[in-house]
Amino acid sequence: MKDINKRGMDTKIIHAGQHIDPTTGAVATPIYQTSTFAFRDADHGAACFGGEPGYKYTRLGNPTTEALEDNIAALEGGCGGLGAASGMAAVNMVYLTYLGMGTHIVATESLYGPSRMILENEYPRFGVESSFVDSTNPENVAAAMKENTKLVYIETPANPTLSMTDVEACAKIAHDGGALLVVDNTFASPYLQNPLLQGADIVLHSMTKFINGHTDVVAGMVVAKDPDVLARLRTVHYNIGGTMDPHQAWLVLRGVKSLGLRMDRAQENAMKLATFLENHEKIEWIRYPGLESHPQYELGKRQMRGPGAVFSFGVKGGLEAGKTLINNVEVPALAVSLGGIESLIEHPASMTHASIPLEERLKAEITDDLVRIAVGCETYEDIEKDMARVLEMI
Ligand SMILES: *Cc1c(COP(=O)(O)O)cnc(C)c1O
Repeated sequence: MKDINKRGMDTKIIHAGQHIDPTTGAVATPIYQTSTFAFRDADHGAACFGGEPGYKYTRLGNPTTEALEDNIAALEGGCGGLGAASGMAAVNMVYLTYLGMGTHIVATESLYGPSRMILENEYPRFGVESSFVDSTNPENVAAAMKENTKLVYIETPANPTLSMTDVEACAKIAHDGGALLVVDNTFASPYLQNPLLQGADIVLHSMTKFINGHTDVVAGMVVAKDPDVLARLRTVHYNIGGTMDPHQAWLVLRGVKSLGLRMDRAQENAMKLATFLENHEKIEWIRYPGLESHPQYELGKRQMRGPGAVFSFGVKGGLEAGKTLINNVEVPALAVSLGGIESLIEHPASMTHASIPLEERLKAEITDDLVRIAVGCETYEDIEKDMARVLEMI
């Protein structure tokens, strides 16, 4: 489709990066399930390796993966994307490209568990120093900047606290300090938030979540705003090897097409459920960007097109009451992950964020009573009735 970047979000979701197959007329992007590509002759092979456009070897680019990369890059307003084997392969691609001996990174304290733990446990071996700050106040980010800070890495809304960070303010702080701003945009998805348009340099996704949306693929994506940044990331990514498989890319292409429809429905359900729980006597607290009680409600309105479909809450009676809740609900599956068509519920302190030491976990507000729910696209009344029934048991 011509002028794809001038079209609306849903048109981009469905058409960006997609081309009618010139030889067969296939409307859906074919799966190019091949590890290697034949050259016409020696000169063609040499030209492809010399930088001319052309496929060589699937780790170094594949048409199915490229269709997905172009799709997500268009949704995010970036110059190009790099598909990764998982969200963590995407995170590590960015870390490995910009961090090394004598460098420093400033990151949101309430990060996805492994994104934080590899910085704490593995990167020090390569001489990398990390500072974790409460980035809901950009002044804390500014105060943590050092001469050798290469990356400011934020997650907004953050997992699992749903705290939000001002992208524009952090971009300014990062750039004033000669660093790049990286945003993990997994919780919002490109449908609701585009950090590159607010000043970020790199945006990354666990496409396992909202983008694929069907709880059947693990995958990641990095999108860069600037071609130089993309080229640098690409070189590291292709050689480190956490690249995407064409079949995996095809499944995500299939999933992303309904991103707008799924997100609208899931968000509507989440808003209704959050409102129901906020007014329920058995609920101690609730944190959802769509509720005015969220401490950064105004920021969310400013930088997101909607509050998303994930929230966290605490039940009166703490961890034990929370356990009763997650053990007895019937509609949400008791499982980690989020952003699927079905509702999922989990307990971060004992599951996704268990690897973070207690003291730091509490400092990041990941309390023992915190229950996280990713609301799906089921019939709303079923979700609410189920929750009401279980809260009666507490
Ligand atoms: C799930 C998740 C990741 C990691 O992605 P995988 O696909 O599981 O490797 C990173 N960041 C956030 C916010 C996530 O929710």
